[in-house]
Amino acid sequence: MSIPPSAPLLTRPRKTRFIELLRTTPARTVCPNFYLLAHANGCAFRPHCDYCYLKGSLWHVPIDSAFDNVARMLADVRRWIARDNLETYVLNAGNLSDSLAFEPIRPAVQALVEEFRAASAAGRRHTLLLVTKGGVSECRPLLEAAPCPNVIVSFSVNCAEVARAHERGAAAVADRMDAARRLKAAGWRVRIRLDPMFAGYEYGSIAGGIRGLAPERVTLGTLRADPHLLRVVNHGLFGALAPPAEPGGLARYPLDTRLDLYRAARAGLGGVCPVGLCEETRDVWEAAGLNPAFPSCNCAE
Ligand code: SF4
Repeated sequence: MSIPPSAPLLTRPRKTRFIELLRTTPARTVCPNFYLLAHANGCAFRPHCDYCYLKGSLWHVPIDSAFDNVARMLADVRRWIARDNLETYVLNAGNLSDSLAFEPIRPAVQALVEEFRAASAAGRRHTLLLVTKGGVSECRPLLEAAPCPNVIVSFSVNCAEVARAHERGAAAVADRMDAARRLKAAGWRVRIRLDPMFAGYEYGSIAGGIRGLAPERVTLGTLRADPHLLRVVNHGLFGALAPPAEPGGLARYPLDTRLDLYRAARAGLGGVCPVGLCEETRDVWEAAGLNPAFPSCNCAE
């Protein structure tokens, strides 16, 4: 069962651990593994984005909820920061939810940032990754705080037409970009995900806006869906995608279509910063003119 758009938001205590290592799938992609911070299940933006993969991966969760036992979450974060010899030092707070959308009903991000400020002061490399489609109002807790070198704020953006059609509950793209500019000007580390790009739309304008922002890194992605999402969202959104090429793989646009989208976006970015591809394999990185041996990924340090 997917979450209906009218379902209420809930806060409740999380009973299981907040942090676990997530091995990215499909396994053959260049994507790095990362630690996942399960601060919420679902998203407070309404309606949910049409393509949101949580509709498939959280099909068993009846309601969007943020976990309100924040003190225990912070204790788990402190224990994680104290660990050495980790496979990765990135804690991603945007995998099971938007990182900032629940802030009005369950404030947590300022306290999280302070844990990572302490980590930075102690010389730890452990890094919090916030991923959001929020705008200035969702970013207010960050704008009111001092920047922290161990916190990355990654904005997911799209061309305005796709966002208006398929990301209706999230902040407008101009608002997201405004928030990104303000945070960068204040000294925060800012990354951009231009993802998922839809075929048939013009990405030059948003790529030019990203170029002007000059984030530290850009990740490009195209519309895709895993088998769970294909089962839940069956109203034609993914009709132009080719079926998954392997069990558990992703339905995607044909390769030529994806490469055209990546090339156009890269041309608009004009080499302003390192670029990576989301959930693509080594051969696709190479075909797009990128080096998978030194990947520049949103979810890596
Ligand atoms: S903002 Fe992200 S988590 Fe929220 S509905 Fe859209 S894709 Fe899903």
